Amino acid sequence: MKVLVAVKRVVDFNVKIRVKADKTGVETANVKMSMNPFDEIGIEEAVRLKEKGTASEIIAVSMGPQGAQETIRTALAMGADRGIHVLTDAELQPLAVAKLLKAIIDKEKPRLVILGKQAIDDDCNQTGQMLAALLGWPQGTFASKVTPTADTAEVTREVDGGLETVELKLPAVITTDLRLNEPRYASLPNIMKAKKKPIEQIAPDALGVDPAPRLVTLKVEEPPKRKSGVKVKDVVDLVDKLKNEAKVI
Ligand code: AMP
Repeated sequence: MKVLVAVKRVVDFNVKIRVKADKTGVETANVKMSMNPFDEIGIEEAVRLKEKGTASEIIAVSMGPQGAQETIRTALAMGADRGIHVLTDAELQPLAVAKLLKAIIDKEKPRLVILGKQAIDDDCNQTGQMLAALLGWPQGTFASKVTPTADTAEVTREVDGGLETVELKLPAVITTDLRLNEPRYASLPNIMKAKKKPIEQIAPDALGVDPAPRLVTLKVEEPPKRKSGVKVKDVVDLVDKLKNEAKVI
């Protein structure tokens, strides 16, 4: 089966985030960028399915400025077969990404589409769900185990109360959770091989999608600095402070 994985380029998870001076967003100039960690898990899962003989071809799709190509190259070095880059400098919100992915999926007809449960930059946790709705396909979100057969996929989901196992009819959309797998590092020979793998570049209008944002960001602010704590003498003192100072009981 053909598997399509969405991979987003985001600020590396190790980078200390800085808010721009004009509060319009987060500073991305001269900042290390990497593949969204949940999308690395998505690629890893697809590669494992290919190694088992379940997946026949893996397509990595990324949307954004020229730099998104690097993220696709990383996916190719991990084992994806080819890439599709939707080139745009416009701000892409989840609905626009879902519509663009749908247009690609209508053309490519994969049986399984894997996204991260959330992108660590916007923390939206929306794209996979919106995509499944637009396609009219079943969805298995927050997957910690995926077992596809010819016509179905059994997905174990991480929910608040524990684990839930659902069976989806293929084609379906799956979003990855942290414990699905541990992504591999790309080996040097595979990084070299990835340079020769094809990446198709498309513009959003060629897909018939207007990616214009529907939401306006009013301002982005650093979280308030945490105040230092105080030591209480005893339980009576603690209860008094909770009641009269913090006013929480
Ligand atoms: P979000 O709904 O923004 O939290 O993103 C959830 C998932 O959607 C990500 O983990 C990616 O798999 C996918 N996604 C979001 N934005 C993009 C993008 N610009 N390019 C490729 N995939 C994306």
